[in-house]
Amino acid sequence: VIEIRDLHKSYGKLEVLKGVDLVAPRGHVVSLIGSSGSGKSTLLRCCNLLEDSEQGEIIFEGEPVRWRGTGLNRHPADKAQVMRIRTNLSMVFQQFNLWSHLSILQNVMEAPVTVLGQDRSAVEARARMLLDKVGIGEKADAYPAMLSGGQQQRAAIARALCMEPRALLFDEPTSALDPELEQEVVKVIKALADEGRTMILVTHDMRLAADVSDHVVFLHQGRIEEEGPPAALFGAPRTDRLRQFLRATE
Ligand code: ATP
Ligand code: MG
Repeated sequence: VIEIRDLHKSYGKLEVLKGVDLVAPRGHVVSLIGSSGSGKSTLLRCCNLLEDSEQGEIIFEGEPVRWRGTGLNRHPADKAQVMRIRTNLSMVFQQFNLWSHLSILQNVMEAPVTVLGQDRSAVEARARMLLDKVGIGEKADAYPAMLSGGQQQRAAIARALCMEPRALLFDEPTSALDPELEQEVVKVIKALADEGRTMILVTHDMRLAADVSDHVVFLHQGRIEEEGPPAALFGAPRTDRLRQFLRATE
């Protein structure tokens, strides 16, 4: 679904991504792990063009992103293409970012109706079905402030799914939650993985990464230090850096 080749990204003089390759094939779950500041969120945000990048290719469903300008002045050239990619790679953030003035149902319906221009009643039916699926169907008319963190995050996942994206991008979806609430969200993510959804998951939860991933990527200071199937990465890490990182997260 999404393919990244030799991606470089800097903020001013700070080079955050130093030539990263990443492939998320259809139906696969790819997890990104690595210490704070290693560039995980930046990579995710580059995937759906929330951030520019100065070098390298981003290929969505076989369609390379077209650019104008070079280096730090490189930007996507085609607004329609950006839109297509963003709506097809739905992001779920650590902070759930629900609109506080909208009900849960309205939050889930908002983008498909206003961005995609879909028929309101069809979107409502889908939104209710998705809220049931993540276990908060009875909260449809509540406002975000009335929900627990775990419920809000499940609403955010329903909202991402309602766009019917080709892939879901998760940026530490459980790290703002208390341990017991974390499990409700982990359950939903596991169910989505079992359904064969394409996902890129940034997580600090090594057990979750081990359970759901087809492929795990360990980022260190903007480079891929080690990658492979979860059994290999977690069971037999090859580099000292990964061994050290895993020890520190135990
Ligand atoms: P964490 O685990 O803490 O979320 P991360 O791996 O997601 O870390 P990033 O958020 O991608 O790391 O940040 C990588 C580096 O880029 C950090 O040094 C960070 O300070 C820097 N950075 C991130 N966003 C910006 C920005 N908008 N402007 C300048 N520097 C930034
Ligand atoms: Mg981050």
